[in-house]
Amino acid sequence: MSQWLEMDKPQEECGVFAIHLNEPADIAALCHLGLFALQHRGQESCGICVSNGRDIVIEKDMGLVSEVFSETRLDKLHLTNARTGIGHTRYSTTGSSLRFNAQPLTVRSNKGLLALAHNGNFTNAKHIRNQMLNEGAVFQTTNDSEVMINLVARYSHLSLIDATARVMAELEGGFAVVMMDKNKIIGLRDAHGVRPLVIGEMPAEQGGGFVFASEPSALHVIGARFLRDVRPGELVTADEQGLHSRQVLTATPSPCAFEWIYFARGDGALDGADVHVSRIRMGEVLAQEAPVDADVVVGVPDSGLPAAIGYARASGILYDMGLYKSPYAGRTFINPNQRLRELKVRLKLAPTASVKGKRVILVDDSIVRGTTSGRIVQLLRNAGATEVHFRVSSPPIKYPCYYGIDTAARKELAAATMTVTEIQQKIGADSLAYISEVGVARAIGLANTCLACFNGAYPAGHPGEEAEKDGIEMPLFDSVIS
Ligand code: SF4
Repeated sequence: MSQWLEMDKPQEECGVFAIHLNEPADIAALCHLGLFALQHRGQESCGICVSNGRDIVIEKDMGLVSEVFSETRLDKLHLTNARTGIGHTRYSTTGSSLRFNAQPLTVRSNKGLLALAHNGNFTNAKHIRNQMLNEGAVFQTTNDSEVMINLVARYSHLSLIDATARVMAELEGGFAVVMMDKNKIIGLRDAHGVRPLVIGEMPAEQGGGFVFASEPSALHVIGARFLRDVRPGELVTADEQGLHSRQVLTATPSPCAFEWIYFARGDGALDGADVHVSRIRMGEVLAQEAPVDADVVVGVPDSGLPAAIGYARASGILYDMGLYKSPYAGRTFINPNQRLRELKVRLKLAPTASVKGKRVILVDDSIVRGTTSGRIVQLLRNAGATEVHFRVSSPPIKYPCYYGIDTAARKELAAATMTVTEIQQKIGADSLAYISEVGVARAIGLANTCLACFNGAYPAGHPGEEAEKDGIEMPLFDSVIS
């Protein structure tokens, strides 16, 4: 996914990866491959940290995995006898998009050298950070991870595992975290399991051992076998003795529905629900809930395609590739004035002949601000579509996400300030309909998922006014440190 076309989409925060093998291996290369498979979860910065039981080395920087990890840089991560490593790919929602906020975060602490990478948000991090600042603590970054690692270090009398378990109970929000010291990796999810984390096992012929990753795609790419999801509220450790589990918090599952709508790669399952199958079902449900007479169903590439296929199957209307996506325009940054933003959409997407003279059902997975959707509708009209009926495989996004997804501020969300009819007029469609909340839950098939950005019911709380009013504001070093 490229960020500029998805600027009208919710943005994922991060992908995390951790590996501990029984035998020495090229850990840097395995982390590198794992991050490639998680690149869609964040494109701003990335990093890898490797240990051989004695030393820990880290490389991180701004940019895509392919840009940051040149051969020279990967060479710096090659430690003899390395068996442990973690990796991270980031899209910032808290903490600015700057090099010093790139993860993994490494610290020397009373528990030795530690590295941490996380996905999601601690909704009480600002409050805790301000308390710590009042007590004289110092911070080198503006992201949440540093708050967590400081909390862990405060329990100097406890082991790393016991301290981390204690901290899990203190942190609020939706998050998945991987940590490492020189000899082990730790993976954990918040009590609601808002952000995903899966466990894989490396086959014995590849060194044996365990892998934690945001998605199964990162397991498959290195040859690991999917074992299971980390349970909500569970802390899992992989070390010399194998895999250890501790259910730290009572599990009250409410994973993010957007993982199935849009974020996660379609080649895996999270919490037992297959991503691609869920997306197809969303299209089928949408066709039942919002039928319309038309000639062809077209999906917005790439993330709208499975729902379009489902819509076509359920409605019996022909599915066709009505939009061609250029595979080469991903990282083209053009000055963001109005005219050039329009050209960006044309650079990325081009209508095919199959929409000419047709009544088109256009299926996409979400509308955030509505600007890109309007441009795509116009592309189809310019190509000769006689009608464009917009169908959306997520319910209207009315509330911001506090659990690590950048859905834009509430006032920027089209559905927070406009009726469906007004959005339809804004994007210039002949009709507009969204899948219902019940429909999306039925398509995913889990008993409970977070739907807070649609209905405002935040399962893991949200940063109230308290946190906003805290005494000390964290100074931003944006202009000083790069
Ligand atoms: S608020 Fe929306 S984007 Fe955020 S975790 Fe919940 S479902 Fe996902």
